[in-house]
Amino acid sequence: MTEDTIPLPAQPRATTSDFSPEDAVNAFIEPMRAATTYVAYGCAARHFLYWLKLQCIPISTLDAAVLRRFAGHDCSCPRYSAAQLRDPYYINRVRRFVRFLEDRGDIPIVSDFADLDQHLGRYADHLASLGYNRWSQRGLNSTAQHFALWLRASRIGWHDVTATVIERFARHDCDCGEGRKQGGISQTGIERRRRGASRFFAFLRESGCVAAHEPAQTREPVLEAYGNWLHQHRGATEKSIDRYVSEVARWLPELGPDPSGYQASSLRALVMNQPASRSRASIRMTATVLRSFLRFHAANGRCRPELQHAVPSVAPYRLSTLPRYADQAAIEQIISACGADTPTRIRDRAIILLLARLGLRAGDVWLMRITDIDWQHGLLRVHGKGRRSIHLPLPQDAGDAVAAYLADVRPIVAEERLFLRLCAPFTPLASSSEISGILARHLVRAGITGVPSGAHMFRHSLATRLLRQGAGLEAVGAVLRHRSPDTTAIYAKVDIPMLQKIAQPWPGDLAC
Ligand SMILES: [Zn+2]
Ligand SMILES: [Zn+2]
Repeated sequence: MTEDTIPLPAQPRATTSDFSPEDAVNAFIEPMRAATTYVAYGCAARHFLYWLKLQCIPISTLDAAVLRRFAGHDCSCPRYSAAQLRDPYYINRVRRFVRFLEDRGDIPIVSDFADLDQHLGRYADHLASLGYNRWSQRGLNSTAQHFALWLRASRIGWHDVTATVIERFARHDCDCGEGRKQGGISQTGIERRRRGASRFFAFLRESGCVAAHEPAQTREPVLEAYGNWLHQHRGATEKSIDRYVSEVARWLPELGPDPSGYQASSLRALVMNQPASRSRASIRMTATVLRSFLRFHAANGRCRPELQHAVPSVAPYRLSTLPRYADQAAIEQIISACGADTPTRIRDRAIILLLARLGLRAGDVWLMRITDIDWQHGLLRVHGKGRRSIHLPLPQDAGDAVAAYLADVRPIVAEERLFLRLCAPFTPLASSSEISGILARHLVRAGITGVPSGAHMFRHSLATRLLRQGAGLEAVGAVLRHRSPDTTAIYAKVDIPMLQKIAQPWPGDLAC
């Protein structure tokens, strides 16, 4: 008796009434009769159906999770062997069988558009019309297809897609491509999956294929109140508020809702007992936000103000012994190493000169708009933190670099932001950290070592230089647009001997 003739058990109990396992397996292997592998396919499908019956799993509820359970089951099914299950080809045959059942309609598919191929086709045209290069198009199309496959396997309907679903897709342990007739799908990292899926989903929404129904995000009342307080009393921007509020949301359940019950020990524990995978910088962020959250409660009389001091300070892990600034010669070396021989370098040079000459924050440069430059008066409007904007004189070389970028390089698109990506679809840079990334790339390329990375280095360098030239803290604070003298004092700490020399009283007369 060959394996494929092992009689199947009677129809599994809870399956749809007109499903016949025997017919299903026969129909599945029928087209493969010519190939010798059909026996193996039949055997795998029968084993699977047998196991489903034992587990009382209805055919109509099969999904990727059930398949994984089957692949891992401790097999003692009569006449089947546990060793077979460890063969990846074996499980792939079962996957093929499940797909076959889906196509035949035995398993209801919630997420499939009848015309998914058409949507994918229109998406491909849409990407091509935006001017993406061949490789980007291929990657985005493949991820869109992957997302559709995964939704189908996870039995999630397009109408149920939310940010959480996209995140699950980004992080799923992928076996979607296996067991498909038309080969695999290209594998990509988490970030690309997330971006690709969001893009395709946004496209479907914009074209009206999927109704926009995203449930309104309702924050807990305390988070809502904290967000409002940050806005009103701290002048925080929307972006900062989002960051702070989502950080609080992460540990609020652990901390508990009633601030009057907060204990110094639990606050310490919250900061100290972070997962090992979190970076030092993220833990510092937790400490900063926790202090701010306690300040918010203290301001409203809901907890003791001194509790903030229970939050431990987290020392920076790396670079803590390295200077946070570079000397003038190094700054000039970075600028000249940038060059101006390719479009990207022309853009990057403008960015680096703005950072170096004006001590701008990466975020200031990132958000800068074309209309922020007043060419007639040589002024640059900087929005800065906390919705304050001021005008700074635009130094000659930085102005020239920006003018060269605008004249020769910047894509001509309807976009307000000054600095754009230089390949299609010419979107603004994604975040302020991209500015720091640009700087880091140039440092590596030019082989410049011994200077701190990150765009803030230029601010520290400028502050240090001004202080060395004899400027007082207030003057430096004005250049750096600090609201509080305490912040400027932090910069001054970069050079203690120099600080001792100037020893300016604060607040005092301007030294320059
Ligand atoms: Zn088994
Ligand atoms: Zn996958």
